[in-house]
Amino acid sequence: MSEHRPLPLGRLGVVGGGQLARMIVPAAARLGFEVTVLDPTQASPGGQLAHQQIVGDLHDPGALRALVESCDLTTFEIESIDAGTLATLAAEGHCVQPAPATLACIQDKLKQKQRFLDAGIPTSPFAALDAPSARALADFGLPVVQKARRGGYDGRGVAVFTDAVVEDRVLPAPSLMERFVAFRSELAVLVARSTTGEVSTWPVVEMVFDESANVLDLLLAPARVDADIADRAREIAIDAVKALDGVGVFGVELFLTHTNEILVNEVAPRPHNSGHWTIEACRTCQFEQHVRAVAGLPLGSTEQHSAAVMVNLLGAPDAAGAPCVLGLESALAVPGMSLHLYGKHSASPFRKMGHLTITASTLDEALAKAEQARAGLRIGGSEGA
Ligand code: ADP
Repeated sequence: MSEHRPLPLGRLGVVGGGQLARMIVPAAARLGFEVTVLDPTQASPGGQLAHQQIVGDLHDPGALRALVESCDLTTFEIESIDAGTLATLAAEGHCVQPAPATLACIQDKLKQKQRFLDAGIPTSPFAALDAPSARALADFGLPVVQKARRGGYDGRGVAVFTDAVVEDRVLPAPSLMERFVAFRSELAVLVARSTTGEVSTWPVVEMVFDESANVLDLLLAPARVDADIADRAREIAIDAVKALDGVGVFGVELFLTHTNEILVNEVAPRPHNSGHWTIEACRTCQFEQHVRAVAGLPLGSTEQHSAAVMVNLLGAPDAAGAPCVLGLESALAVPGMSLHLYGKHSASPFRKMGHLTITASTLDEALAKAEQARAGLRIGGSEGA
């Protein structure tokens, strides 16, 4: 069915103005939306590019209401926001996607795992840990992983106990405990699901983490796994997003075990760090697809046309103050390299300050060039050593 659509297509609100908003905004603007971002920091990374920014806290009901009421459709780029207020606004008839109920489920890692269990999605065995203690964790059996139910990100809120439970490392927050998975690799699948139920995924990717910072360090697309594993990973990821009634783009983090079992670790209800490479290497990137999905527009092709490697650019271990970049010229001289700097106002150790993506005809070539591009690059700060 064809219809006359007035332009702009609509006013899109984005809760959160971080790097994901910074990449959602141009994709949405290109599609014909006018974007307003809500973020507590004036001229946030997303706010710098948006049509408008509302300065306000992401937990402030008044600020959320101001955003949602000034937009035709609201989405979010961060989970740590007031889902209750969004639910109230949605119940009043405002369009919020993904649904606040999906967000609320994901915000609580115990509820999220329970949802997977109920839906038959493979995930590591777990139990609630309302009053965390070394005894309870030891009784569950080692090795064990404790996860705070709420508020964790980038490994904060996760404690791994392999040979013994050290009392002072036990997190003092309502948690869940889960079986430690001796994984061969960590994979991720991005899933887009639109308001119409249309679903698409991108090729499975492989994530390599920086052990000291527990932040995604290197991403390989596609993952170096057999086709049957990749197919299974994509099916499980779609099932996980369906189990959450997800609408939008979701990052599904998976463990691949040594026996080729695939387990869902967790799901992010938004575009994900593991999908930045889609900007340069796929027909439709995760940010554009997210906008299409939440707006009920047809999804684009997710075909990958180049091998890609993505590297996060983290603040140096001594970074503080206004950011500065060292080694820009030599990095930009590497063919096939795309640089994304997020426009953050200050640098701090291991903070995500930008990323780079290398596209090439083979993954090996992309890997070699990524190492070359990152070699001299350093993001420090004016107050750093
Ligand atoms: P966050 O939300 O902070 O990213 P995750 O649940 O993804 O937390 O955990 C962070 C990292 O901890 C994972 O990427 C993985 O490397 C490790 N991890 C999490 N759960 C397990 C587990 N059950 N077994 C082994 N490692 C785990």
